[in-house]
Amino acid sequence: MNESISEKVNLWGRVLSIIKEELNDINVYNGFFEGSYIYDINGNKMSIVVSSGLAKTFMQNQCLEMITNAINEVFQSDYELSFYKKDDIAKKEEIIEEKPKYFADSKLHPEYTFKNFVMGDSNREAYSAAALVAKEPGKRFNPVLIYSNSGLGKTHLLNAIGNRIKEISPSTKVLYTTTSDFIDEYIKFARGNSQGDDLTSFFKSNVDVLLIDDIQLLVGKPKTMEIFFVIFSSLYAANKQIVITSDQHPKNLKGLDERLVTRFISGLTLSIQPPDLMTSEGILKLRIEANGLDINDFDEDTIPFLAEKFSSSVRELEEALNRLLFYTINIKPTKHIDLDIVKEAIQGLIKVQEDQGTLTSQKIIATVADYYNISVSQIAGKIRTSQIAMARHIAMYLIRTLLDEPLAKIGACLGGKDHTTVINGITKVEKELKTNTQMQEAIKELKKRLGSN
Ligand code: ADP
Ligand code: MG
Repeated sequence: MNESISEKVNLWGRVLSIIKEELNDINVYNGFFEGSYIYDINGNKMSIVVSSGLAKTFMQNQCLEMITNAINEVFQSDYELSFYKKDDIAKKEEIIEEKPKYFADSKLHPEYTFKNFVMGDSNREAYSAAALVAKEPGKRFNPVLIYSNSGLGKTHLLNAIGNRIKEISPSTKVLYTTTSDFIDEYIKFARGNSQGDDLTSFFKSNVDVLLIDDIQLLVGKPKTMEIFFVIFSSLYAANKQIVITSDQHPKNLKGLDERLVTRFISGLTLSIQPPDLMTSEGILKLRIEANGLDINDFDEDTIPFLAEKFSSSVRELEEALNRLLFYTINIKPTKHIDLDIVKEAIQGLIKVQEDQGTLTSQKIIATVADYYNISVSQIAGKIRTSQIAMARHIAMYLIRTLLDEPLAKIGACLGGKDHTTVINGITKVEKELKTNTQMQEAIKELKKRLGSN
């Protein structure tokens, strides 16, 4: 409600005194008008809340004209009136609450469940903790923080928690959000694009369980960190379950507010390791079945071969299997999978692994995308959320400084950007690097990952 409306709402007292005088019957006045107030004014529509159903009927049928005249006298304009019982308004507010203005796009990924998550030595603790909090949110460990390198199942587990909670208790308000979406929502809020609504009060009334992915992205965003601290503290105090993921232990996130580090590790902090052979084999078998294929069509040595070759992340393992399935369905159709065809199919992938010594612009783009947890097509695309635009500029900067590629070529491999766009991107990064410690850290880490520090 804006200020001029709330001023008008305050004028209701004057309307009531006129009515009281007109009625000249204190019992009627007390019975029907006492406790009424203006709920909202929207254009020429005014909503009035009254104490009972009887009062509503009385006002609508017996004295609408008198009320309208009194309002007209005080406000000097005509309004179309609607009357609501107090209980009706409570219901109306509930409906409004179900349509949050924030995080409209933050949804759980239904495909990530506990059922299709393979538990093994490498992720046993994280899996068990996730299953526990899904069973009794807010009652066991709070917060739970899971950290690991990318591609090891953090996002999967976080969504599995949310999906399980919604399955057991559909009315529980679960919010899954990535930290980059949180940052974008915060920016929207700070710019006042959301009718001055308060982000913290949104969390208070709309979130029972907060699942926040990739918290490392808060580093270097002091204002967002500040508001996240307030939100975290208020949810925590209200016993609302919070589950966080990070690509590193919070203590190693240079630049993360100390107060947040302390809070984050005050519950249960667990890591996920790269999959051991058993887990990798389990994941492969599950994926093969999920694709409607028969595991008996795969020679015995094929699964261990793949599991061993692509063991540094589950994402990599999935990529290899997808390649194999694509090859044996579309390129060289065969039902029976033996080691030779596996080797043939994944030749390209192994070559990429072996090629890791040679730095290419594609590799830089893929590494930056991975670091910011966005896809290569987002980096090369047109979307300009702060996170994606920054990743794009960093990719431009790194290709230029590490490979010395011409600007036009850099633009071309980033989805056909022209050379001024590339110059602007690179200049932005260079400027930031002078003062922004988070940018300095990001570049340092990226160079390390690219093997060129
Ligand atoms: P992270 O968030 O740690 O980067 P993701 O949760 O996105 O990793 O996992 C990458 C991919 O690997 C996803 O497709 C996910 O379903 C799959 N995955 C990871 N761990 C497992 C597991 N233990 N069982 C089954 N699938 C897994
Ligand atoms: Mg993730």
